[in-house]
Amino acid sequence: MMKLCTDSYINGQWVAGSQRLPVLNPATGHLLADVALADEAECDAAVRAASDAAADWAACAPRTRAEILRRAFELMTDSADELAQLITAENGKVLADARAEVAYAAEFFRWFSEEAVRVQGDYRLAPNGDKRIVTTHEPVGVSLLITPWNFPAAMATRKIAPALAAGCTVILKPAAETPLTALAIADLLDRAAVPAGVVNVVLPGDVGPAVKRMLDDPRVRNLSFTGSTEVGRILLHACADTVVRTSMELGGNAPFVVLAGADVEVAVEAAIVAKMRNGGAACTAANRFYVHRDLVESFTAALTRRMQSLVVGPGDRPGVQLGCLVSEKEREKVARLVQASIDEGARRTTNAAEHVTGAFYPPTVLAGVKADAAILRQEIFGPVAPIVSFDSEDEAVRLANDTEFGLIAYVLGPESTALRVAGRLEAGMVAVNRGVVSDPAASFGGMKQSGLGREGGFDGIHEFLETKYIAVNA
Ligand code: NAP
Repeated sequence: MMKLCTDSYINGQWVAGSQRLPVLNPATGHLLADVALADEAECDAAVRAASDAAADWAACAPRTRAEILRRAFELMTDSADELAQLITAENGKVLADARAEVAYAAEFFRWFSEEAVRVQGDYRLAPNGDKRIVTTHEPVGVSLLITPWNFPAAMATRKIAPALAAGCTVILKPAAETPLTALAIADLLDRAAVPAGVVNVVLPGDVGPAVKRMLDDPRVRNLSFTGSTEVGRILLHACADTVVRTSMELGGNAPFVVLAGADVEVAVEAAIVAKMRNGGAACTAANRFYVHRDLVESFTAALTRRMQSLVVGPGDRPGVQLGCLVSEKEREKVARLVQASIDEGARRTTNAAEHVTGAFYPPTVLAGVKADAAILRQEIFGPVAPIVSFDSEDEAVRLANDTEFGLIAYVLGPESTALRVAGRLEAGMVAVNRGVVSDPAASFGGMKQSGLGREGGFDGIHEFLETKYIAVNA
């Protein structure tokens, strides 16, 4: 039975602190728990604990680290159901999405348990023959990990697992909306026998100054952030003062391009996954639908039917396919974006929102959206699909690339054309004729203002490793 953890986790101890933060269920508004807010002294203690544990953890045999991570995978898999319920309770997503998240999150522990023992260096003769070039990789050191609320388990394990595999110690700062999942993961790592101080979890009250203080501490050498581009920019500035190394997984504005000749049925099924996974609250969510003029009518009609058939309700109710957004504030933001597009001339083809209690927003399709509409410029982060039509491949590519973001793109159409278009899109990831790309074994990350660095795959561990070159006489 998983216990509900609500205190900060510092140096292997649960610390109650003096201030608490209420965590609410967004479907009901009911209080789930009061979670400890870490003050300055507690954040300092977390940095000290991570720093004190760093040398021993870095020196620990990779196989030992791998086995601890493997144990974490097994413990997480064993408590998958309870963890999924906790995610649904504090985030609002439906249980099916929460279960999928737990499976995905656990997989990072398994994948990086396998990667921990496979870090390669090299040993070779210099071109002029005067020396041997030896290249090794060392843990970068104490790493601060900051995660968002939309995937409270997976965004944490996607950072903790490679950090621990590389031999780094960490301080995790979860999002204020969803700290319970992060604390449950700390408990699970404790049970997996992660040594005290290797993983610490704190939720500071005044996040900006608290994070800045930690980044200014010379013991902190690395920041791995997942969240909005706006906060990413602030943190890049903050890291400049002490030249802290950074990995940035930031916002997206994914185009979903349906080319001439695409199979509309396949395109709509992919659209439902790309748009509606996590209720639309995903950095990978299809945000702008560009559909060839020949298909726009049939695609809009079929997508409208599919969206309208989704059952909306509390995420823990059987049969429900779309839960609520994480907060009333998020719901209002989505409602404002939809209203603004309608005011600009778009047509809602799905039923209008009914007022209900809780942060619910209905599945919405907007047809006839203008190519320069505001809704296409920012992340909607909700169940809304704005559709724009295009006439040529060049126009589709131009529209899709017309954004400062470059995380992911979706292309639907005959394979050879779709592959050619995929090559022209400015995105770190492209899905061809499918609605999902995420896989712990693949590199995840964006171009342009969607981020710096990659998580998962063979690259993920290198975000926590420094390269060292040693010159040896030949
Ligand atoms: P957010 O507002 O940027 O917050 C993310 C995290 O940063 C939270 O833990 C937040 O803490 C913290 N934070 C906020 N202001 C800060 C500051 N001044 N200094 C230090 N930390 C600060 O993002 P969100 O609304 O939680 O998440 C949604 C965003 O995440 C979307 O833009 C989405 O695209 C992006 N995302 C990207 C990926 C990816 O892999 N590229 C994956 C998932 C989500 P508090 O909660 O305490 O404010």
